[in-house]
Amino acid sequence: MFDLLIQTALCDGARKDVAIAGGRFVAIEPAGTLDATSAKEIIDGTNFLLRPPFYNTHTHHAMTLLRGAGEDLPLMAWLKERIWPQEARLTRELVAAGTRLAILESLHSGCVAFNDMYFHQPAILQAALEMGVRAQVGLMVMDQVSDHIENEAALEMRADLPPTLHLCYAPHALYTSTEAQLRAVAEHATALNLPIHIHAAETQDECAIARERFHAATPVAYLDRCGLLRPGTILAHCCHVTDDDLALMAEREVIVAHCPHSNQKLGSGVFPWEKAIKAGVKVTVGTDGAASNNSLSMIAETKAAALSAKLNASSPEAVPLAQVDRAVTQVAAAALGFPDAGEIRVGKEADCILVDLSCPLFAADNDPNADFLYAGDSACVDTVICAGRILMRHKEVPGEAEIIAAARAAARQLKGCNR
Ligand SMILES: [Zn+2]
Repeated sequence: MFDLLIQTALCDGARKDVAIAGGRFVAIEPAGTLDATSAKEIIDGTNFLLRPPFYNTHTHHAMTLLRGAGEDLPLMAWLKERIWPQEARLTRELVAAGTRLAILESLHSGCVAFNDMYFHQPAILQAALEMGVRAQVGLMVMDQVSDHIENEAALEMRADLPPTLHLCYAPHALYTSTEAQLRAVAEHATALNLPIHIHAAETQDECAIARERFHAATPVAYLDRCGLLRPGTILAHCCHVTDDDLALMAEREVIVAHCPHSNQKLGSGVFPWEKAIKAGVKVTVGTDGAASNNSLSMIAETKAAALSAKLNASSPEAVPLAQVDRAVTQVAAAALGFPDAGEIRVGKEADCILVDLSCPLFAADNDPNADFLYAGDSACVDTVICAGRILMRHKEVPGEAEIIAAARAAARQLKGCNR
């Protein structure tokens, strides 16, 4: 018995029937060959491209409430003048409202998972649980903001979390922690068997701090000295990495979360994706938070990531489409601790999206995956399925109006106004 049967969808260049049971793909056969009478639910995939969803490897989801709060400022001024003062007023309720809005936006762009670095982790976990998405939620470590109580509360939830939700350590950046704090994070992460997620080599200012405050050649070298570079560590941004850094990152088996829009918007720099591939570094893509992007669309981010790689390498052949596609699906899923997700194959966890081929951009029908990744937008994502559960159907997420209304109210409260 199948829980769900998707019939006649275009998948990997052919029309197929795809069956899901127990949260996994259990049969994938040529269209018209799987028995529909053994399915509890059927989706007619005739007008749709069936493909893996996106996995967003760097974000601060509840910053949807701060979208537009500070434009055209350098990173440090933006953080100190606009972001940190409002963040000081955050509560669990506000973070839950902002996170739900971010998940809603992400689902519309075909994304089922996020790697979050933000405050009030119990609220983030609860929002992800309610909306059925996957998440890796970071325990925050920052000088300015002590969040030990919430970190402890999240750790207490760990044993009861479903397999779709994980924790990690998320020290914000080298410039917001002391060396002792970062070394302690490395020790705690080892003791608790948790991965690490940190901003790294984002700006030239950060490189100067690594040199002047910590007497390290580069931010990456410094993070390695602190013990943070290890298999599975996710380094967000990596705009300013040397050849030695890339060799070290490959050796340590760390993963880059390439955040091209945020890097462009803040004028931070360009991550050298092609050079990273040649050095053997794994690369994924993240949106960063909505306050510095300002979109959470993984479709838009994927295109920007590919284009910035080609521009950086001065070559249209740099980072070809199939490699871009793997980076935002199976490589990213594995990076977030879901090695069995990110591919439509029998035995894999049933994460997939249905893309509406009746959208005008698919008319030429040369390469639907290229059309989707390089010309698509949220308007052509029809259905999103995560771990076998339908989270969005016909472009509607349950409770959508309430989620938007709650986020609107939360943003007003954060600004300190009662209107
Ligand atoms: Zn970030």
